[in-house]
Amino acid sequence: MRFPSEPFKIKVVEPIKRTTREERERLLREAGYNLFHVPAESCYVDLLTDSGTSAMSDNQWAGMMLGDESYAGSKNYYHFEAVVRSIFGYRYVIPTHQGRMAENLLFSTVVKPGMYVPNNIHFDTTRANVEHQDAEALDLVIKEAYDPHCDLPFKGNLDVIRLEETINRVGRERIPLAMITITNNSGGGQPVSMENIRSTRQLLNRYGIPLFFDACRFAENCFFIKEREAGYGETPVREIARELFSLGDGCTMSAKKDGLVNIGGFLSLNDERWTQEITNMLILVEGFPTYGGLAGRDLEAMARGLEEVLDEEYLRFRISQVRYLGELLDAAGVPILKPIGGHAVYLNAKEFLPHLAQEQFPAQALAVALYREYGIRGVEIGTVMFGKRDPATGRTIHPELELVRLAIPRRVYTNMQITYVAESIVELYGRRDSIGGLVMTYEAPLLRHFTARFEDVTPVGVISDQPGR
Ligand SMILES: *Cc1c(COP(=O)(O)O)cnc(C)c1O
Repeated sequence: MRFPSEPFKIKVVEPIKRTTREERERLLREAGYNLFHVPAESCYVDLLTDSGTSAMSDNQWAGMMLGDESYAGSKNYYHFEAVVRSIFGYRYVIPTHQGRMAENLLFSTVVKPGMYVPNNIHFDTTRANVEHQDAEALDLVIKEAYDPHCDLPFKGNLDVIRLEETINRVGRERIPLAMITITNNSGGGQPVSMENIRSTRQLLNRYGIPLFFDACRFAENCFFIKEREAGYGETPVREIARELFSLGDGCTMSAKKDGLVNIGGFLSLNDERWTQEITNMLILVEGFPTYGGLAGRDLEAMARGLEEVLDEEYLRFRISQVRYLGELLDAAGVPILKPIGGHAVYLNAKEFLPHLAQEQFPAQALAVALYREYGIRGVEIGTVMFGKRDPATGRTIHPELELVRLAIPRRVYTNMQITYVAESIVELYGRRDSIGGLVMTYEAPLLRHFTARFEDVTPVGVISDQPGR
């Protein structure tokens, strides 16, 4: 079946409210047209992020009741450690409250000022944690990753030639480790092939540089390998994961993604000396090494989530649900980023709203319109998030792409709700000319997308024939 139906049934329901267009219009005004500031309760379908938004299974909830909240040596830690070792294969397992703490512990231990960390594309928190050590975060993804129309099976691959050039340019001693993000979140949730990881490993071996994975969506990446890479069609995803991680020396993980939990993360690695130093820091900033900033019950939920995420019925549904949304949009001519990634569909706002200049924040305007008209919340990934001020002129330097990311939470929405999202967007696309631009009225000096405020400059009454929903 091309789009398999849900491999689960619903035991507990969380009601969602329908708001009217008038209410949403008011909420938007109060929020300064920033969707981070509208109440989640007012969103009919909330696609802001797939991070920490998963629905846990009955098995995970049952595990929550078995939380051993002992300060040291909780039984849930031993279970968690055994599960992580069995999937990832590294010797040491260090729990953290989320992914960025794993990054912080790793980089504050091994990265020194003036060093370089290559990656396919650093996720925001990964980049920020490298830069916090006065080191440089280098994005070395293949150049096709930046072309929204280029349809490649493994568009998250690292450019191995550029990696070697980089090593020769800056010197091996200034690269404490290299990273690969699977799937490549910032590049559209695109997977990395086993072959690419193997060649990266071979190159790094010649220079003695360790390889770490940013493993947040490892199961989705491994499922893409099974679907797309020659020789893996019959291999269980769990074995693909074992093989993939055997090519590295460690990983950082936000279990809020493929851990199927609402909070949690970890760092896992083989190096004993690094582990000692990291553990000392962990005790200072997170907690004792057998809980690392989490409750025993959280560790249990994470252990069970990591097992469940490798269920291939689940993964087939998961990847297909995202693809289902993308294909409905694509079939109706709505411009989206290709190919469709593992956790989200990205609307190409420059092509959706060609009548808006980048100065008018087309992706933000599109995200606002989608919420105003249909109660659907996505997130802008464009000038608001990545635009930079030229220090000399004060003018904005715009990013190449203006995108609205529609991230699909795991096991949360039914395909009928996804159909609603697709039909809404197709309808909005039909009257895209009526969407006006925005003016930014406030911006913070750092990470401005979280707190920016805007004013709507659409002439009043342009979209007036909408049934209130
Ligand atoms: C979410 C994410 C992180 C950070 O994890 P948090 O749990 O949000 O701290 C790091 N890398 C990637 C690729 C991510 O998607």
